[in-house]
Amino acid sequence: MTKAIVTGAAGRMGSRIMSLISVTEGIEVTGAVEMKGHSVLGKDIGETLGLDKTGVVIEDDIKKCINKGDVVIDFTHHDVVVDHLRIAAENDKAMVIGTTGLTMNEIESIKNLAKNTRCVLAPNMSVGVNVMFKVLEYAAEVLGDNFDVEIVEAHHNLKKDAPSGTAAKMARIIAESLGRDLDKVGVYERKGMVGVRTKDEIGIQTVRAGDIIGEHTVIFGGVGERLEFIHRAHSRDNFASGAIRAAIWIINRENGLYDMQDVLGLRD
Ligand code: NAD
Repeated sequence: MTKAIVTGAAGRMGSRIMSLISVTEGIEVTGAVEMKGHSVLGKDIGETLGLDKTGVVIEDDIKKCINKGDVVIDFTHHDVVVDHLRIAAENDKAMVIGTTGLTMNEIESIKNLAKNTRCVLAPNMSVGVNVMFKVLEYAAEVLGDNFDVEIVEAHHNLKKDAPSGTAAKMARIIAESLGRDLDKVGVYERKGMVGVRTKDEIGIQTVRAGDIIGEHTVIFGGVGERLEFIHRAHSRDNFASGAIRAAIWIINRENGLYDMQDVLGLRD
């Protein structure tokens, strides 16, 4: 049985992860952490999830429960992730990091700390999206320069960054597969007399509307045909179940930094 400590326990992701774990075999929540001052501190996680009491109380410091688990699942805020990983590494615990918005310095620190423990870092834990990354790499390689590539992503109206990190990663994978430099060929908006489309450009367009959880469409437009690959997230559960899969997978690995391609066995 994998014992998981969930940080960000009252957050959108943390609470979904704990709910899904409660109905998943082979893993249980043995520790939960929230930010100092949060109204859920001291409460049983069952109480916060609308389930039966579990005996696991939400703590305000990961150090108070780090020895109760095998793996920390972190969906919090980028500025606390490095501290959480340091404490996990010092106590020989594995870690799954889903938190996004990490700075270059924070990513460097994570790489260094992962030499002393095992860690999965993935800005998109969705199994479907990670399979799509692999499919796009292959499609671009086979379709080559004869197909125009356009990416359209859509998210809810509260999302602050654009394009999504997932769309940016899709564009990077396709550019690398085609031997192009995304910084030179990425086109993020078109308006007015922009001229005909250049052969090399990769369009990345953004839609923000309502409560769309996340949609990514990649179009390969050729002569007389086009291929479209679409991923639609129906709820946050696709990220949560990917994180749980990663948590179960990571505990028996060698020390090092992994991503979802490793978890899913998609690495070449
Ligand atoms: P959220 O704001 O609902 O939840 C974050 C929680 O972390 C909050 O409850 C907050 O109080 C808590 N927190 C902050 N500092 C803490 C600390 N020091 N210790 C413990 N808890 C702390 O946000 P969310 O929608 O759950 O997303 C969390 C993060 O996960 C974001 O960075 C988001 O972009 C990312 N995310 C990643 C994926 C993925 O697939 N990797 C999917 C969805 C969201």
